Amino acid sequence: MQLTITKAEQFKTKPDEAKLGFGTIFTDHMFNMDYSPENGWHNPRVEPYASIDMDPATMVLHYGQGVFEGLKAFRTEAGAVQLFRPKDNFKRMNNSCRLICIPQIDEAFALDALKQLLVIEKDWVPSAPGTSLYIRPTIYAADPFLGVRASHTYRFFIILSPVGAYYAEGFNPVKILVTKDHVRAVRGGVGEAKTPGNYAASLFAAEQAHKQGYTQVLWLDGIEQKYVEEVGAMNIFFVIDGELITPVLDGSILHGITRDAVVALAKAWNLSVAERKIGMDEIIDAHASGKLEEIFGSGTAAVISPVGEIKYGDKVMTIGGGGVGPMAKKFFGAISDMQYGKAEDLFGWIESV
Ligand SMILES: *Cc1c(COP(=O)(O)O)cnc(C)c1O
Repeated sequence: MQLTITKAEQFKTKPDEAKLGFGTIFTDHMFNMDYSPENGWHNPRVEPYASIDMDPATMVLHYGQGVFEGLKAFRTEAGAVQLFRPKDNFKRMNNSCRLICIPQIDEAFALDALKQLLVIEKDWVPSAPGTSLYIRPTIYAADPFLGVRASHTYRFFIILSPVGAYYAEGFNPVKILVTKDHVRAVRGGVGEAKTPGNYAASLFAAEQAHKQGYTQVLWLDGIEQKYVEEVGAMNIFFVIDGELITPVLDGSILHGITRDAVVALAKAWNLSVAERKIGMDEIIDAHASGKLEEIFGSGTAAVISPVGEIKYGDKVMTIGGGGVGPMAKKFFGAISDMQYGKAEDLFGWIESV
């Protein structure tokens, strides 16, 4: 397949890097590719960033058949642009496609197309500390049709958005609310797919949490509402009596790439690390006996997000004095140093553009 490139005739003004937020500014070009049963994935192209003209019956709007990914491009001190584990994102995208009945993409081709888009947009990769270019690959069901079935046609696109430093004012521990009233996913469902419906289904509980002054929801398992699963768009880690524990991937939890990096680093550092079921009762006991040392989330947006407080029913638990623990700091430092090319890439995670 040959990628065609159409350059924009007008270029947008680049934003002030000191004022970058998240997800509001998009670059000059995007990648597009279409799928039809006759031609498979075809017509891959980089073209000017543009709105999508859609029939109101377009299936994704009605039945949510879509998948997406999220990763970042980083600028090194030497001025190069690099990606962190992008192959894992396209692999995970294909797993999401499988669960949502979307035809598989050629992962190597998609990565190559992304790199070509990034070469064209390289000036959009910011260089201020902690900033990056967020990458959003998306596939949606494109048939104009009413009726529940898998679509016959699809659009795959990639858009790019320069984003600010998550911790511009320093590490900021978050407060999370454990919900017993709602669940995000169940085993046998689509919890491990990055599919729009999972996020729509999380909004109501998130709103309830915000009303109580909590920034995020910590989801429990969908069957017993006993075991911890993950946070909104982050996986979760606990440090109990020196051991690092994260819920085992059982089908309802998103396979976070940052989660995987934390586990791999912990093993390389000879830390005691367990991927297993962990119940709220165990967390409450550990907190009561003073053994719950840290809780932190992991995800592409923040890398590591320390948790300063969790609320479960009427019980409010302050974690690590509400501050940032040493493990959270250590993983944040190690992963971001690799991403920005300040530390050696010991695991083959860095892909240069
Ligand atoms: C994307 C996501 C994560 C984090 O995955 P990363 O690959 O580390 O960014 C965790 N949980 C959910 C629900 C997510 O959507």
